[in-house]
Amino acid sequence: MKIINSERLHIMDNQSSVWSLIRDIATTNNQEDAFYVCDIGDIVRKHKIWKAKLPRVEPHYAVKCNDSLTVLEVLTALGTCFDCASKAEINKVLSLGVTPDRIIFANPAKPASHIRHASAVGVTTMTFDNEVELHKVKKLYPDAKMVIRIRCDAVDAQCQLGNKFGCDPITEAPELLRIARSLGIDVIGVSFHVGSGCREPPVFRRAIAAARDVFDYAESLGYDFSLLDIGGGYPGGRGTSIDKIADIINSALADFFPEPSVHVIAEPGRFYVSSAYTLACNIHSIRNVIGNDPSTGIHSTHRMYYINDGVYGSFNCILYDHQVIVPQPLKQYPGAKYHSSSIWGPTCDGLDQVVENIMLPEMKVGDWLVFEDMGAYTLPVASPFNGFPVPKVHVVADENIWILLKDIVNFSDDHFEMIAKPTMNQDDFDGSNCLQSFPLRIEIPHGNG
Ligand code: PLP
Repeated sequence: MKIINSERLHIMDNQSSVWSLIRDIATTNNQEDAFYVCDIGDIVRKHKIWKAKLPRVEPHYAVKCNDSLTVLEVLTALGTCFDCASKAEINKVLSLGVTPDRIIFANPAKPASHIRHASAVGVTTMTFDNEVELHKVKKLYPDAKMVIRIRCDAVDAQCQLGNKFGCDPITEAPELLRIARSLGIDVIGVSFHVGSGCREPPVFRRAIAAARDVFDYAESLGYDFSLLDIGGGYPGGRGTSIDKIADIINSALADFFPEPSVHVIAEPGRFYVSSAYTLACNIHSIRNVIGNDPSTGIHSTHRMYYINDGVYGSFNCILYDHQVIVPQPLKQYPGAKYHSSSIWGPTCDGLDQVVENIMLPEMKVGDWLVFEDMGAYTLPVASPFNGFPVPKVHVVADENIWILLKDIVNFSDDHFEMIAKPTMNQDDFDGSNCLQSFPLRIEIPHGNG
């Protein structure tokens, strides 16, 4: 039995919501630091959706998307597997008691030391898309089970990946498989990634059909492929759904991979964490610029709001993840006039702009802006540039979610428990008094999900 040490979990009563919690935290004890609220219940709900919509596809959560221990612990308890891109990610997941067979090392271009490490810790399944990688694997990890990554790009995606990874399934994959065969490397299947934040669901059918052709070609070489990895691409923000993608995947699997012997996995990242994280930022400075509105030519005042997180912190997702940012004032401003406004991060860099132009009510120093859907590709990349700290995360769940979580994973009480601790002091939750606070402790039997 391995006890996983964790962050504190705050249990919400049924009068509370993420927004009411944000209000509580923001109005307590001269709070001015930016902070996140992470709702574990949202991650659990996502897992339920995945299981219901894609029953044949085993999720391997893409750790790169948000490698917070809380996320990894909850997903471990739910029984998901993991997609790791590096030695450090592998170690982080293994440290939670996850067994190496629940990890795919899904980076087609791996440093030699990382391949050696995978071999040392027994992570056997790895991807490749080029000949050089095959020679490295032959030398460093000849027993590895390799998965060939093919390219099939969505016409429209938030972040394209095909420019960097994936061999052409027709012009390159056959040659790579012949080379693998001649090197005696055990290739066990095909993977692809259609692009992160896929906005063209039918691409999954094209990609699955292309994978079928690669399976068939491999068979002609004497391989017996057993793994299909349909990668990432699943949206996860509020107002998005995987229904259409799931329908297309399920029917393509039935058409191209009817044989149940083919194990189908995926590498969702964004889907699991995007909507679980909500960020609150404080307005610490305001600059009013008087001039002519460029669109109307009318004399007006443009308001520049400076907040305490920016593109060097959480909003790096604007630059690296092409995220569209939607600010929402925490307070209501009844009857207020709306003005042309921009939102800026705290650093001294002109690049540090969060929103270029938006109509907002007139706000004051000390007011708060809330940003939903901030769980994907934000925290792992954020830096404290200029001395502005990366926001702290408050982890919350309601009691029902805990009961649900226990039901889903069917853990007995001694495997998974939440321990109440009679604490209710300032440190626990910045003085908020609508909550009870518990240390989160998840116990997971070694070798079990
Ligand atoms: N798998 C791999 C190999 C990736 O590179 C990524 C994202 O870059 C993911 C999975 C996660 O995909 P998504 O962001 O669409 O959830």
